[in-house]
Amino acid sequence: MSAPSKQPMLIPAMLTMKCPSCRKSTVFVNEGIFPLGNMLELKDECEICGQRMKSESNNGGGINYALSMVLFFLNLLWYWPIFGLSYKDNSVFYYLGASTFVVILAQPWLMRFSRMIYLYLYVSFGTSRRVTIED
Ligand SMILES: [Zn+2]
Repeated sequence: MSAPSKQPMLIPAMLTMKCPSCRKSTVFVNEGIFPLGNMLELKDECEICGQRMKSESNNGGGINYALSMVLFFLNLLWYWPIFGLSYKDNSVFYYLGASTFVVILAQPWLMRFSRMIYLYLYVSFGTSRRVTIED
């Protein structure tokens, strides 16, 4: 039999910044993004399963760039219906400004989420040394 029923779902675990191996403990030292100075600080290892979090030094810089670009264009989805876009006036530039503003505001979450994606790419469920699935 494969796929143990106690395995927490992948996407919710990623969105709530849970450990990629046991999906129970949080990955970051701080639950929220404040204080901003150490919002990206990872735990040394998971306190539940012992999965190492700091094995990679360059966590998610490229992924963060890609996510920023995706969000930048996703802003079209709300900007276009609300304010409208036209090549006849300056609305394209207003959109670029508004979208840049939103992307900058979302940076703390984008940066953390990029690290999560990076961790989940390299660590799959149940691969840590001390993992116990049948609890
Ligand atoms: Zn864990």
